Parts: sequence; C-alpha cells; structure tokens
Amino acid sequence: MYIRKIDTFPLFYRLPKPYGDANGMKTYRTCYLIRITTDTGVEGWGECVDWLPTLHKGFHERIIPNLIGKPVLNRIQLVGALQKWHPRSSAAVSMALTEIMAKTCSVSICDLWGGKFREKVPVYASFQSYSEELDWQKHSLNEIDKAINQGFDKLKVKIGGKSIFEDQQHIVSVQKLLQGKISMALDANQSYDLTAVLQWQSLLATWSNLLWVEEPLDIKHINEYAQLRNRLTTPLAGGENLESVTDFIPILSKHALDYITPDPMHMAGVDGYRETLRLARNFGIRATPHSFDGALSRLYAIFAQANLEPWGKMGVDTIEPVEWDVMDNPFLNLFPIHPLNGEVSIPLGCGIGVEIDLDILAHYQWDGSSYL
Ligand code: MG
Repeated sequence: MYIRKIDTFPLFYRLPKPYGDANGMKTYRTCYLIRITTDTGVEGWGECVDWLPTLHKGFHERIIPNLIGKPVLNRIQLVGALQKWHPRSSAAVSMALTEIMAKTCSVSICDLWGGKFREKVPVYASFQSYSEELDWQKHSLNEIDKAINQGFDKLKVKIGGKSIFEDQQHIVSVQKLLQGKISMALDANQSYDLTAVLQWQSLLATWSNLLWVEEPLDIKHINEYAQLRNRLTTPLAGGENLESVTDFIPILSKHALDYITPDPMHMAGVDGYRETLRLARNFGIRATPHSFDGALSRLYAIFAQANLEPWGKMGVDTIEPVEWDVMDNPFLNLFPIHPLNGEVSIPLGCGIGVEIDLDILAHYQWDGSSYL
C-alpha cells in the first residue's frame, strides 16, 4: 500500500471579535488539513498548524513530492524523516497514515492502538479570557456562565495578560460564579517570573477547586518550576509547545511539574505523543493534553486518553481531562464530536469514526493572501 495522492486544505477565519491571552489578542483562526489517499483508495486525514503561506509552500514544494509513492507501512520511518524538516508537518502525516492503517484493518484508532480503557473522556472548557470589550471581565464571566449551562464542570481561564491586581480581581469574580462547584485551571502562558507568581500564593491557597496553574514561568526554567512546586499548594502544569519525547525528560526527571500538557499537533507525530503520555506515567506524573488549536488533533488527544492506563487511585473510569476550545472557531465543527456533561464519548467505527463536514471545509478555504 503506497501513498498515491495528498490533498491540502488551508482554512482561514477572521474573528469578528478578537480574543486573547497573555501572548496578545488573536484576530484570526486557521486550520491546515491534509488528506492522504493510497493506491488502494483508502483515505486518512491529518492536521497541523503554522502560518499558512509557509506551511502551504512547504507541503507542495517539499513534503508532498517526497511522500508520493512511499509505503504507508513505513509510517514511523517517514514521520521520523519529516520531523527533521518540520515537526508540525510530521504530526499531520502521522495522523493521516495512522487513520489509513486503522481503516485498512477495519478497526478504530483506539483498537489499532491496543484497545481503550474507557468509553468516555472528560474535557474542560478552555477560554481566551481577554477581549476588546471595555468591561472584559464581565464579558469573560458571561462566557463562563454559558459553558457551565452547557454542562462543563471543568474550565481553564487565562491570567498574565493584565496587571496582577486586575487578573486577581477577575479570578475572584469567577470563583464567586463557580461557588466551588466547578473545577478551574489558571493559565499564564509563561508570562511571569517567580516573584510574580508568588504574589498569587496566598490567594491560590484559599481555593480548593483549582486543577492546576499552567505555565506561570518560561517552560525552560525547570529548576524554578521545581522550586515553585515546593512552595505552592496548587499543582503545576506545562509543556504544550514541546516537540519530542526527549524534550519532556528534564521536566519529568526533575519532577518539576505535577501535570505535563503535551499537544498531539505540536509534537512530531502521534506515536511520539503517545510515548510521552506513557513516559509520564512511568514517572508518576499526570498528563492533561493541550489541544487548543486542533480540530482533528483534539480527537487524537481524546483517543490517546481513552487508551491511557489509569494509575494509582485514579480508577479506570477517571482520567486527566483534555482541553476543549469553546471560543468562536468554526473549525471546531469540522468533526462532529460534542461533549455532553463535560465528557466526550469515543466514536465507534473504523478510523476516527466520524466524517468531516465538507461544507465547512469548502466555506473557509484560505484565499492565498497574506495576513497578520
Ligand atoms: Mg497553556
């Protein structure tokens, strides 16, 4: 079975109302999907993220010509070679070739990977808390209220984009809304230093519903994370932008975090992604997948989490939650999977078990122009 054809689908959506985090405001969302077809007529979809003009040129001038005619059964070898050029492209190829193998064997992705431990995986509603509204805090509270009414019992809110005082004022208001009944993670997107994080210390200690504080510091500052972990009562999480299993070894071996947050689209291939989850288990450290930019890749995060062995007292029916983007983003409807009461049921059927919405795919085709 050989790769016969690769189609690409760059998608673009200009946000009517920008939103953001500590890294700034987002004015658009993009999605880059690929479809690999084999000489036997089997199709598999993959997804990656980067600036569309560069990604598109890279695929059409280098990656596609290199892959045409190559054997699908050599997935690890093909993805390994691509990883050296552009890790994010290799994530897409890895997903597509995995789906082709599952369909060829007439099994689901979870079955191909050895079988799932659970039928449902918990997800948390993930927000970009900042907006251009004068009263951004009120706007944020309204959005959180909507998610709670949709049945989410876990959520993640941004900090680090405003002054510490203003961010704390916001989180205190959110906590009043949650009344201790909903769990919450706080994400600073690497915007603090140790002194700044410690300004949150006394406040964090008063809240028992906190899941974790995500990337308060630069993720490279592993020793400082280890120090911080000893000083805060709230668990620490991070690692969404790391590309390989090896990148996680210093964090795991120094026990610098309570949760790692690998992203199947940011890592070089879903096989390496799964290896990372298992490695974390071996260190006794939890893994809660990041998947904010992913339409298809968040399904792969769900599949991998369904197949992940529980550890300690976690229990077979409980597992770390997967991030679920709840912001204005039409690409999230490309694959019709919707949480119910904060959980996603694993789709049955071969491959990824769901069909892509071709109308959405056609409607948001990128016109090839540059953008900021
Ligand atoms: Mg994050």
